[in-house]
Amino acid sequence: MADSTTDIFLNLFILQISMDTLEKQPCPVCGKKTCTLMEDDQDIPYFGKVFIFSMTCTECGFHKADVEPAERHEPTKFTLVVETEEDMEIRLVKSGEASIKIPYVVDITPGPSSEGYVTNIEGLLMKIKNRISASVEAEEDKDKKKAGWKLIKKLNKVMMGRDKLKIILEDPSGNSAIISDKAVKKKL
Ligand SMILES: [Zn+2]
Repeated sequence: MADSTTDIFLNLFILQISMDTLEKQPCPVCGKKTCTLMEDDQDIPYFGKVFIFSMTCTECGFHKADVEPAERHEPTKFTLVVETEEDMEIRLVKSGEASIKIPYVVDITPGPSSEGYVTNIEGLLMKIKNRISASVEAEEDKDKKKAGWKLIKKLNKVMMGRDKLKIILEDPSGNSAIISDKAVKKKL
């Protein structure tokens, strides 16, 4: 029987030795030398090598992350219907220039603060859920609060494979992808 715990430790070990860290760099926001730059790479099957960069300032809390594939890809639009629990494992590369639309749920458009990351569908839905939760907490309007809770409930159901959701990922830079045979790929 394969020991998955060993695999996790091995992965963590590989992650640590391949990660480059530069500390005490000048922060683009507060100007203090309290920024940590990190660079890492990951090999993503059917997509290739991806470089992951991040910048975090301990002084002012500034954080920025992005991804860049080693190879050039075409500007593409991916559409995926998430409908089973297994779909949660589907991997996704989202660059800072990509937009993600989930009809009736959320619209994430690129902007100066938009982040790039490598995750899976579950990770993406968790990110979105946390964002909605935070705004529901702060919301004072009763109806808007109710609508927010409804969305969270829907996302929970989807994550358990009891509801469907359509995810549209568009990236004019070509630096993003949904890695699955189920994803419909079109040129942008
Ligand atoms: Zn700072």
